[in-house]
Amino acid sequence: KLYTNPIMGHEGTNTIGIIITLQDVTQIRKLERIKSEFVANVSHELKTPLTSIKGFIETLKEGAVKDENTALKFLNIIDYEAERLTNLITDILVLSELENKKEKTAQEKFSIETSIDEVIMIFKSQAEKKNIKIEKNIEEDIGFLFGPRDKFKQMIINLIDNAIKYSGENSKVMIEALVEDERKVISIQDFGIGIPEGSIPRIFERFYRVDKARSKAIYGGTGLGLSIVKHIAISFGAEISVESQPGKGTKFKIKFPLVRKES
Ligand code: ADP
Repeated sequence: KLYTNPIMGHEGTNTIGIIITLQDVTQIRKLERIKSEFVANVSHELKTPLTSIKGFIETLKEGAVKDENTALKFLNIIDYEAERLTNLITDILVLSELENKKEKTAQEKFSIETSIDEVIMIFKSQAEKKNIKIEKNIEEDIGFLFGPRDKFKQMIINLIDNAIKYSGENSKVMIEALVEDERKVISIQDFGIGIPEGSIPRIFERFYRVDKARSKAIYGGTGLGLSIVKHIAISFGAEISVESQPGKGTKFKIKFPLVRKES
């Protein structure tokens, strides 16, 4: 859209020139729309567990508390919903911190293998519960990366968390760190439910879930995990890609930028 600002002469009568201000209003409108959609989504996502918590508390107060079995069942649901709220708020804070980029993140040289090992440790018991093996294949001289180490770990955490979440029992999650065309590539592969082709372009969107109701009920995710992954990958200057086949599994690949060897 164009805005024209006529510049008036001394008497305010004669137009002596025209300044044309070119502004990409469509872009601003789009950003405004995305922002208000996000606020609406956040409100909805926060309200759902709260409504459920309030509902079960009401029922308990109205007498269900007297039946110990029912009371315990309801308390477990309240506990689960409260945990979901906590996870959601944590993810929203992480995402907004990444988007604001106000805080200076610590840039450091860190070992890829050590960081991956630390993340694998976090998932030990979660994987054991489903009898899922976490295997790794790390190139011997994969070396180091430069950037915020905690963010790197967060990215791997979110991807392994999904890999375990969207796999059945007695399965495997494979973590690789290899050098391809002189670039360091880290991949996380599972042999789980996979992602339908039509959904792949949307999975990095905030709050997008394949089969929303089922994802939330069974897997309990926030729908923000992959948006966080995307943001972190971008901040490292890395490219992220996905290969997936429903019923066969999914592979996420993060390709880090080429670093010239110091001579
Ligand atoms: P969520 O918290 O719901 O897992 P994410 O942003 O991490 O949200 O992922 C978005 C959606 O992408 C998920 O709801 C799920 O449907 C799909 N998805 C992500 N990772 C995988 C995977 N490894 N296998 C199958 N589906 C996945």
